[in-house]
Amino acid sequence: MKTMTCIVCPMGCRLTVDSGEVSGHRCNRGRDWALAEVTNPVRVLTTTVALEGGELELLPVRTLAPVPKAKLRDCLRHANRLRVKAPVRMGQVICPDLAGTGVQLTAARSVAKI
Ligand code: SF4
Repeated sequence: MKTMTCIVCPMGCRLTVDSGEVSGHRCNRGRDWALAEVTNPVRVLTTTVALEGGELELLPVRTLAPVPKAKLRDCLRHANRLRVKAPVRMGQVICPDLAGTGVQLTAARSVAKI
């Protein structure tokens, strides 16, 4: 049996998964999330990468899709090695395949060149 707080919406339902059965959920999205959480938990990664020649020194970035929780550390290491040149526009692909996950890392904001 595993208990967890649902993070799909702000209601924050307390969910229990026991032998593949979910309880405590108020909607199917929460049930589906809980089942995925016990089999293949995933998270959207948000972090920053080094930016050269821009009005900021760090560029906020996020993965375009969730990555396996077990790969988050590898993804962070990969992102920490990246260097980007300004200008950057929001949504621009910074890395097409972050740490071999097949997920794109994209700019979370635009930054002009100085
Ligand atoms: S179970 Fe449904 S209502 Fe409850 S937090 Fe999750 S998504 Fe929101």
